[in-house]
Amino acid sequence: MADQQFRPRCRTAGVDMFPDHDDPDGIAEAQAVCEFCPIRQACADGALARREAFGVWGGLTEADRRAIYNQAPPSTTTRSARVAQRRRDVDALVAQGLGNKAIAARLGVPVDLVQKARRASGSTKRPSTRAVRTAERDVRIDAMLDAGVSVKQIRLQLHVGYKAVQRRCDLRSTTNTVEEVAA
Ligand code: SF4
Repeated sequence: MADQQFRPRCRTAGVDMFPDHDDPDGIAEAQAVCEFCPIRQACADGALARREAFGVWGGLTEADRRAIYNQAPPSTTTRSARVAQRRRDVDALVAQGLGNKAIAARLGVPVDLVQKARRASGSTKRPSTRAVRTAERDVRIDAMLDAGVSVKQIRLQLHVGYKAVQRRCDLRSTTNTVEEVAA
């Protein structure tokens, strides 16, 4: 049930989610797929956390992500003001369900500073659901399977178990079979 509810739209849209950076039509088409995807936010956060270099993820293009990474930290404020601001920023992102790595990528700071800010404000518990995290992981596995990456490499790069990858392989082969029969 959760799998249906959080099914990534790009899996069935038949659209290239890795358009060339100089192909505005392809980029717009990919973004349109993301627009109503049920896991859009988690997908975008995950791509930022992993510093994905290529493709449209959660509606964010390669250029969008680069702009976020390159956001300059405030330089004219005092240290205590910056710490207070960072704590507020971290709290806001925690409330959105982001994990430490995603928050660090979003704010352009090291993970240990995020952990420190969370300890200081007492917001150490991540409120996002397991289903969202699982769906986000499955999107990554599917994208890597689509790109022809081996199971072993997927496990190494995503730090996931054999069963998680195998389940996606099984599901995809079942889906393909059903689609072939229907066609
Ligand atoms: S790239 Fe992410 S947000 Fe876009 S359709 Fe796929 S899973 Fe959904």
